[in-house]
Amino acid sequence: MRLLFASGLCSGALVLLINGYAFGQSQAIHAVRSYRASHEAGIVDELVEFLKLPNVAADGPAMRRNAEALLEMMARRGVEARLLETDGPPYVYGELKVPGAGRTVLFYAHYDGQPVDPSRWAGHDPFTPVVRDGPLEAGGRIIGFLTYGRYDPDCRLFARSAADDKSPIVAMLVALDALRANLLEPTANLKFLFEGDEEAGSPNLGEIVRQYRELLSADLVIAADGPSDPSGLPTLYFGSRGIVSAEITVYGPLRPLHSGHYGNWAPNPAMRLAQLLATMKDPETGRVLVDGFYDDVVPLTEFELQAIAEAPNDDAEQMRTFAIAAPESEGSRLLLLNQPSLNVRGLRSGWVGAEARTIVPDRGIANIDLRLVRGIDPGEQAARLIAHIERQG
Ligand SMILES: [Zn+2]
Repeated sequence: MRLLFASGLCSGALVLLINGYAFGQSQAIHAVRSYRASHEAGIVDELVEFLKLPNVAADGPAMRRNAEALLEMMARRGVEARLLETDGPPYVYGELKVPGAGRTVLFYAHYDGQPVDPSRWAGHDPFTPVVRDGPLEAGGRIIGFLTYGRYDPDCRLFARSAADDKSPIVAMLVALDALRANLLEPTANLKFLFEGDEEAGSPNLGEIVRQYRELLSADLVIAADGPSDPSGLPTLYFGSRGIVSAEITVYGPLRPLHSGHYGNWAPNPAMRLAQLLATMKDPETGRVLVDGFYDDVVPLTEFELQAIAEAPNDDAEQMRTFAIAAPESEGSRLLLLNQPSLNVRGLRSGWVGAEARTIVPDRGIANIDLRLVRGIDPGEQAARLIAHIERQG
């Protein structure tokens, strides 16, 4: 049996802010929205130029061009910016000090994108952005970019990282433009941290945070990265679920053996693995059966419970969307997200389909992720899983 662990932080969240001293809050939001509406073509242009820069994290020179573009985009707005170097693509850090501000807000986003497979792009290069007049599934056709006026709300911009995660960067910077155009300044110091290898699992984030602890200190971090909510509404998640992942390999015979000659005699690692995994969760309640798994969970406050109850969320509709007959555990999806989880994210043993053969496989492999919530230490949660496996013999 072999266990490999990796841990990291995966974030969900969306943007936006603002507090004006001359205006009330809703007036400031109104002012920012009307700025956005009247500058839409120019805002999209800035994003489009940024999207034209290839941003596959393995391509060092290309990533540096992105970082330099970010320095320039921030400098244009009077944000003091610099690069924080790592073994991989640099982090781009920016800071806007506001005289008299008592608080600091740090905005995080990443400028790298997932690797690209050009054959899976519909009729254009992933780094040649196009606008379609609707979603691709709805037959959206390519239209030209506007030089003024507004795009129809059904329009979609297609390019690598258009959503994940370059748009939020432009949104943050344009929010600043919008405030200033209305003679408003932020009331908090602003810090920006743009990462260049998030899609590779942020291998340098821990080191950067340790090395630049002071520089990055803030009262609030807003991570502008994550899936859109099924409701389609802008969504703010409070907190980020951490993750510990584990790979479990159960070994059988030294090499695959013929099932006609060795079946019933050679232990089957796929079956043993399935039996091991089955000990980890209660099939009735969906509760994880690893000892101590929920011990350190900090219960939600009344306020948090109320916020969850009031959040727009339609579990029944999502069950229809995903063809789910019944949820794994009792409680709403949003409540269950606030519990630690144990998820099998992949299984491998032998062969299936047209490749199936008459063998007892030599090994079975499961990859698991443990989602963490507030109060849970990743190392301790991993240790609990190991202890559970040891107890199964
Ligand atoms: Zn992302």
